[in-house]
Amino acid sequence: MAFYDYDLFVIGGGSGGVRSARVAAALGKKVAIAEEYRYGGTCVIRGCVPKKLFVYAAQYHEHFEDAAGFGWTVGQSSFDWKKLVAAKDAEIARLEGLYKKGLSGANAEILETRAELIDAHTVRLVNSGQIVSAKTIVIATGGQPNPHAALPGHDLCISSNEAFHLDELPRSIVIAGGGYIAVEFANIFHGLGVETTLIYRGAEILSRFDHDLRRGLHEAMVAKGIRILCHDMLQSVAKSGEGLRVETLNNGVLNADVVMLALGRVPNTQGLGLEAAGVKTDERGAIVVDEYSRTSAHNIYALGDVTDRVQLTPVAIHEAMCFIETEYKNNPTKPDHETIATAVFSQPEIGTVGLSEEEAGKRYKELDVYRAQFRPMKATLSGRAEKMIMKLLVDAASRKVVGAHILGHDAGEMAQLLGITLKAGCTKDDFDRTMAVHPTAAEELVTMYVPSYRVRDGVRV
Ligand code: NDP
Repeated sequence: MAFYDYDLFVIGGGSGGVRSARVAAALGKKVAIAEEYRYGGTCVIRGCVPKKLFVYAAQYHEHFEDAAGFGWTVGQSSFDWKKLVAAKDAEIARLEGLYKKGLSGANAEILETRAELIDAHTVRLVNSGQIVSAKTIVIATGGQPNPHAALPGHDLCISSNEAFHLDELPRSIVIAGGGYIAVEFANIFHGLGVETTLIYRGAEILSRFDHDLRRGLHEAMVAKGIRILCHDMLQSVAKSGEGLRVETLNNGVLNADVVMLALGRVPNTQGLGLEAAGVKTDERGAIVVDEYSRTSAHNIYALGDVTDRVQLTPVAIHEAMCFIETEYKNNPTKPDHETIATAVFSQPEIGTVGLSEEEAGKRYKELDVYRAQFRPMKATLSGRAEKMIMKLLVDAASRKVVGAHILGHDAGEMAQLLGITLKAGCTKDDFDRTMAVHPTAAEELVTMYVPSYRVRDGVRV
């Protein structure tokens, strides 16, 4: 039997990598994990977590305004960007420490270096040049912002990575893209007082979401003062005095202090030695895996964003747990990528699970659509013109709820709970016999008794 330095070597200390290494080590395996930047990966260091902290910061402006309707007089308020960044950095450092503590507590060896494959069982630690071997390897190197190298002036633009560490809060920003990151950051910057323009190539932002949420969010963002230019693209970015000059395809020239590209993320597979190890990638550079996350090299698995399946933290963690079951518990387990609840932390927020109306209309012959649009209770006294949208899509034949979509406060929190009901296959009748929690916005989900309309063969009737 071959002798290896490690039972498991994990490349990448993000959500998927850390979970694989920690749990394997806790099972008594000899494990090492290598990370070239900071432990915690995109989610903790420059993604979900700092983003959510920024979202909270951006909401205070409206909280102060809303307070007046409830009798409060709020004194002069001001915002200090550097203070926010420093507080965020301290929290991220704390979380990074916890990630490392979890690993060392489980006896995994923590390596602060880039690691590259030499062959299917051998890894080179770039900092020291040391060569080590492992029986099993997990690649969980994640992704990075698409640099959009074809855009003249792309090197003058920032991505979400830099957005977390800007020296100064810009006065104005142009954000390119219409996905999660573009929309979330447009709301963050606007909430912090930055003049914000979003440029998206398609007809409506958030192309993979239900049309009601897309439209509803677009309208709400515009009402707050965010400029959204659809059917448009950046043509070039150039320096102009203190700021940047942005040429667009359809809206002429825009000037901004900062231009941010949020045009999707690409897998981190460059220079990893994948070819030498026999690991195949697809045309986008993502590692090709089978249903068990196994690559074309039998002892190498790949998890998370580097495989470009579903780019979400909980999915990477789930894939890691399936890998542990498959490899170390004699229980081959395929990750389940069906019916994943998700949220967009825009303002208002989106929470969604299951199929959009468009997708459901293609999959089911007859669809009952229950839709409510209303002013949430808090907005009555605050006087804020805001609407919540809630929508359930029900397969008319089986009565199964196949999609649930919410726009408004706490939509992400609601989506988590709705995720359980849709995963369990609940029917509309289960919703109907569930007692409402009063007074909440969520009670609308169990009190929509009559369909708003029906979709037959994909067409509203
Ligand atoms: P998305 O895939 O969400 O959006 C990318 C956007 O860029 C789309 O609007 C797309 O347009 C547009 N685009 C892509 N290429 C071009 C191009 N060449 N020219 C013009 N526009 C282009 O990616 P993000 O970068 O926003 O986020 C990456 C991933 O991170 C997401 O998929 C998500 O899974 C994850 N994420 C999750 C969050 C959450 O859970 N809340 C928050 C942030 C990120 P089109 O739609 O027309 O293709």
